[in-house]
Amino acid sequence: MSKIRTRYAPSPTGRMHVGNLRTALYAFLIAKHEGGDFLLRIEDTDQERFVEGAVEIIYRTLKETGLIHDEGPDKDGGVGPYVQSERQASGIYLEYAKKLVESGEAYYCFCTQERLDSLKKTVDGQEIMTYDKHCLHLSKEEVEANLAAGMPYVIRQNNPTDGTTSFHDEIYGDISVDNSELDDMVLIKSDGFPTYNFANVVDDHLMGITHVVRGNEYLSSSPKYNRLYAAFGWDVPVYVHCPLITNEEHKKLSKRSGHSSYEDLIMQGFISEAVVNYVALLGWSPVGNQEIFSLDELIKEFDFRNMSKSPAVFDMTKLRWMNSEY
Ligand code: GLU
Repeated sequence: MSKIRTRYAPSPTGRMHVGNLRTALYAFLIAKHEGGDFLLRIEDTDQERFVEGAVEIIYRTLKETGLIHDEGPDKDGGVGPYVQSERQASGIYLEYAKKLVESGEAYYCFCTQERLDSLKKTVDGQEIMTYDKHCLHLSKEEVEANLAAGMPYVIRQNNPTDGTTSFHDEIYGDISVDNSELDDMVLIKSDGFPTYNFANVVDDHLMGITHVVRGNEYLSSSPKYNRLYAAFGWDVPVYVHCPLITNEEHKKLSKRSGHSSYEDLIMQGFISEAVVNYVALLGWSPVGNQEIFSLDELIKEFDFRNMSKSPAVFDMTKLRWMNSEY
């Protein structure tokens, strides 16, 4: 088997809460347990969601917790992380999207916002828009004329409307979805930037990622990613979707849940090793009875096959207890 390569791929949209830290930790441990590589990739192509200072928080947190990445472009005399907005400057994402247009797996869409708004429907109180493939039916000449006239466009994925898409997740098992549920998602936006979804798949392939470790909120997008891998003829990585972490009221933690961010825990006096130890056990059970682990011990013991798919509850009182053991 080839060397395991994982990555932590945060979007810099806020603080690092314990769920984000756990994803980074598990990705690190899965690679290091097998002597593999751990990469850091900042997914910042969605400029509207960018939060000032979030990148610095990510670097600082990973450094303090010892989750050091193995490779990346040279930066300030050291190894920097991969940064998608920097990679985007070379035009790679657009180049790959155009390859899909050529093979019929993607298409230019010139629909106005007004037309897209007219496709919106309210389902269960939520407004959703499923694109009707209108622009898929434009002739080559029409597309060329629109491009030559400088009409704004996006590039959309061309998903089949019949059949099913299936994939395997190491934690959630085999998953199948009806292709009629797959929207033709945007790959390249009208500002020329790739969407998070597209850049994510292209980079995972180009960086040779063997195991994709991420939160289970991405499970529902995975069929669309799978179709992209198939459209390019690329191998699909092993998926490890981490279970949800909730607060004590069983509500999902968000980046805005201040008290559960790494920084806040440190400010409250918890030491970094205790936080890492506690986070490791949120969704993973070691084989023996040991409860206190150093990072090196975690590397030795961690096996993603012992991860649970049930939501884990972030309970500060347990963290306090663990801290007193140090
Ligand atoms: N960029 C995504 C986020 O910050 C992570 C996606 C992934 O790991 O595939 O939530």
